[in-house]
This record gives sequence, C-alpha cells and structure tokens, in this order.
Amino acid sequence: AKESGRNNYQYFTAAMNARVSQRLLLENNLRQALARQELALHYQPQYDLHSGTLVGCEALLRWRQPEQGLIPPDRFIPVAEETGLILPIGQWVLREACRQAQAWQDAGLPPLVVAVNISAVQFRQANLAALVQEALAASGLSPCWLELELTESMLMEDGERHTQTLAQLKAMGIRLALDDFGTGYSSLAYLKRFSLDKLKIDRSFIRDLPQDAEDAAITTAIIGMARDLGLETLAEGVETEQQWSFLAERGCAQMQGFLRARPMPADEITALLGRHRSA
Ligand code: C2E
Ligand code: CA
Ligand code: CA
Ligand code: CA
Repeated sequence: AKESGRNNYQYFTAAMNARVSQRLLLENNLRQALARQELALHYQPQYDLHSGTLVGCEALLRWRQPEQGLIPPDRFIPVAEETGLILPIGQWVLREACRQAQAWQDAGLPPLVVAVNISAVQFRQANLAALVQEALAASGLSPCWLELELTESMLMEDGERHTQTLAQLKAMGIRLALDDFGTGYSSLAYLKRFSLDKLKIDRSFIRDLPQDAEDAAITTAIIGMARDLGLETLAEGVETEQQWSFLAERGCAQMQGFLRARPMPADEITALLGRHRSA
C-alpha cells in the first residue's frame, strides 16, 4: 500500500509539473505573441433580424502559435488576464478593430458597427476612456461605429469608478453592449443605473429554442423587458432557421450565429460588404 501510495504521489506530481510547465510555456509564448505578430482579429457578422442586412461585426481574437497552432481565446485570455498581458493585448485589439472599421469606410463600403470585447481587467483601469479615445483618434473612426462589450459582473464590481468610466464612454458617443446577458447576476438594478445600448442574449438561452419552454419564456421576457427599457437586443449563437423565426416574431432586433456566418478574417468581411453594396 505504501509503495502504491508513493507511485500515486509521483504520478500526481508528474502530472502537475506537466500542467505547470505547459502553463508557463503558454505564458512565455503569449509574452512574445504581440511583438511576433501572431495575434489577429476575426470578425463575426451581426445581422438585422427583420431586413437580414449586415449591420455590425464582433472582433474576436485569434492566436496562431507557430508550434502549437491555433490556440482558442478561452484558453489564452484567462492567462492574459492573470498576467496583466491583457492590457497591451486589449489595447492592440481596440486599435486594430478601429483601424479596420475605418479602412472599410475609406474603401467606400457601407459602414459597420464594430464590437470589441473588454476584459474586466481592462475595465478596472482608471484611464480606460482615454485609451479608447486614443484608439479612435489613431484610426479616425467616429465613436458611433464603436461598440464595447461588457459583462454583468463588471458592472456589479465597484460602483463609483465604474459609473464614471461608463459615463465618460457614453459622453464620447460610444455604444455599450452587455455581453452574455442572463448568465450573470439576478439583480437588474444596473440596467437603469447605466446607460447601455444593447443586450446580447447569451447563447445558452438560444441553443434549445424553440422547443425548450423555459428558454422560450426567458428569451421572450428579455426581449420584452429590453424593448420597454429602450434597449436593443441581439441573440447570440443562432444556429437554426427555427431560432431565427422565433426571435424575429418576438421582436428581437439582431442576431449573430453560425446560421448566417462564422467569425472570419477581415478580407472576407470586405467581400461580404462589397456584395451588400452592389445588392
Ligand atoms: P463571446 O464574447 O461570447 O464571443 C462569442 C463566441 O461564440 C465566439 O467564440 C464565437 O465564435 C462563438 N459563436 C458565435 N456564434 C456561434 C454559434 O452559432 N454557435 C456556437 N457554438 N458558437 C458561436 P470565440 O471566438 O472562441 O471566443 C470565445 C470568447 O473569448 C468570447 O466569448 C470572449 O469572451 C473571449 N474573447 C474573444 N476575443 C476577445 C478579445 O479580443 N478580448 C477579450 N477580452 N475577450 C475575447
Ligand atoms: Ca462578446
Ligand atoms: Ca457573448
Ligand atoms: Ca462568453
């Protein structure tokens, strides 16, 4: 028993060491990723649910690591947040998304709102509004074409400073969206405290529509509440025609999902926009 206990222990530490060194490798590689230009943005189209028009796109980070291949954001963003690397990376995302949105407009394509995910770590920076302003100024993009995606937990954090940051961003004319809506906190008080523009209904409520009665009730309630509060709604993760019609019938404004388009490189969006213009 003693013998096998020791073996288990050795096995355990070996597995743990492997995990720790894998994590260190990821962290060290991530430190180089920006300078080595391994990061890129893909863009996922967002459509008006009634006209079917392309109205916006969400910028989604991609990391092509030379040895490990494509590493999904769910794996490296937590590491970037723990190490603080999310700050330079997040600023690069903001600048690159604004630059791209302005480049589409400069090419004479129909203007699109570009949505950028903001990490809680970025949101805690006292100078976030100034950093956003810097990205807009560098690109020449008008603030009305930039949407920042925040999460419920970020708005719950610390009242004073966050209220001020949000007020500054709104005063600049930037759009604010609440990401993964419905998965965070049960308190809805912040919906009236902050001036948001849009609720993004989380994919987990959309997935089993229209069959799942609870999800149907929740989604319908969110759309109705948003309408009464003067907020736009976007359904995330729409994958079927039935989901599309369910949402359209209930007055949801926009959708984003594999049914219409996956995240894609900027040049594919350029082609989509070109077709939109000639249509
Ligand atoms: P998110 O903000 O909720 O982004 C939407 C995710 O859902 C994306 O995954 C997208 O590819 C996926 N998705 C969209 N439509 C569908 C669908 O119809 N079906 C399914 N199954 N999935 C769909 P992705 O690109 O892997 O991003 C994962 C998460 O990583 C994002 O979730 C976001 O939290 C984070 N992330 C991505 N880019 C950034 C970034 O630039 N900054 C920060 N802070 N976080 C980011
Ligand atoms: Ca998002
Ligand atoms: Ca989301
Ligand atoms: Ca998410």
